[in-house]
Amino acid sequence: MKIHEYQAKELFKKFGMLVPEGDVATTPEQVGQIADKIGKPVMVKSQVHVGGRGKAGGIKYAENAHAAWEISKQIFGMDIKGCTVRKVLVTEAVDIASESYIGIIIDRAAKKPVIMVSPAGGVDIEEVAAKTPEKIFKMHVDPMLGLQNYQALTLGSFLFKDMKMARLAADFIKKLYITFMHVDGSLAEVNPLITTPDGQMWAIDAKINIDDNGLFRRPEIEAMRDPEEEDKYETQAKNAGLSFVKLDGSIGCIVNGAGLAMATMDTVKHFGAEPANFLDIGGSSNPEKVVNAMNIILADPNVKAILFNIFGGITRCDDVANGIVTAVKQLNPPVPIVVRLTGTNEEAGREILQEVDITATSSMEEVVKRAIELAA
Ligand code: GDP
Ligand code: MN
Repeated sequence: MKIHEYQAKELFKKFGMLVPEGDVATTPEQVGQIADKIGKPVMVKSQVHVGGRGKAGGIKYAENAHAAWEISKQIFGMDIKGCTVRKVLVTEAVDIASESYIGIIIDRAAKKPVIMVSPAGGVDIEEVAAKTPEKIFKMHVDPMLGLQNYQALTLGSFLFKDMKMARLAADFIKKLYITFMHVDGSLAEVNPLITTPDGQMWAIDAKINIDDNGLFRRPEIEAMRDPEEEDKYETQAKNAGLSFVKLDGSIGCIVNGAGLAMATMDTVKHFGAEPANFLDIGGSSNPEKVVNAMNIILADPNVKAILFNIFGGITRCDDVANGIVTAVKQLNPPVPIVVRLTGTNEEAGREILQEVDITATSSMEEVVKRAIELAA
């Protein structure tokens, strides 16, 4: 799950990191009031779940409250990489002497968090990694031991030659690590971490992504969810108990089990086509899930064929077949449907599918090839 900059900054503040004073607004009038309260020049910052807002014109400086009110009228409603701006953060504008980058992600291969720092902050870190990798320093942390002081100081020293500043940065990194662990983060990033001409250090941008699998034990983080920012169909799928990720291809995939769903996507790609989605209907085989799944997939205009790949175990092929029959009758899909059934109650499932003139195969290769043919 993603959260907004203003929410990430609330967490930063809670864990002792310095962030400029500010508040979130949904109307130009509120922007004016907040700026008035701050009583200094402000930044008006669009709150959307994408990066690069500055470059896209979604972050503007305003000299005073009136200017902030005026400029926010341009920012509200702006489209940034497909996201509409509905909220802005109004925050004290600070003088910048230097911009650095600090970030933490999980290194899955190492099974550890990895902290990355770079003195080339304020710009796209992927670009720094591609063009000047020597400007990025990485360090893994053993999650059982936590981040050690010497590690934090090593990272801080990579950013600043001045010992006082290196210590300030080390302190920031330690707090960011604690925040990251506390929220079950998959990413925590400050870009830029800035210094002011009088030697203070502030986070002026903040990004935190949460591992969805940790959310059940973090109700206060779950409460930060902004449904308006999330993909409508992914939300619908979640509410229907399905794991769904939208992709850009033309083969709609409905599969039971995450591993089989991945294998199905790989096979689609192997035979030269692109999957339209990842969708796992899960282990149980409630026919209603199939109807919901089909509904969600059919909402995507790119879908040219629907491919069912069902490996019956706990999931029963006849239940899935009943779901397919109901869905076909109810939704009258405008695209061809191909089905592979194998395992528990396979024969019964095949028979049920006759009702809607679908002949199920038991070969995965065959069904994938057929879906691609029909979608062409
Ligand atoms: P992003 O473009 O989505 O990463 O948004 P940021 O919050 O990182 O802002 C983009 C850039 O705007 C920063 O790298 C800064 O250069 C600039 N910026 C943001 N806040 C301030 C501020 O308070 N003062 C100044 N001088 N520049 C700022
Ligand atoms: Mn940034």
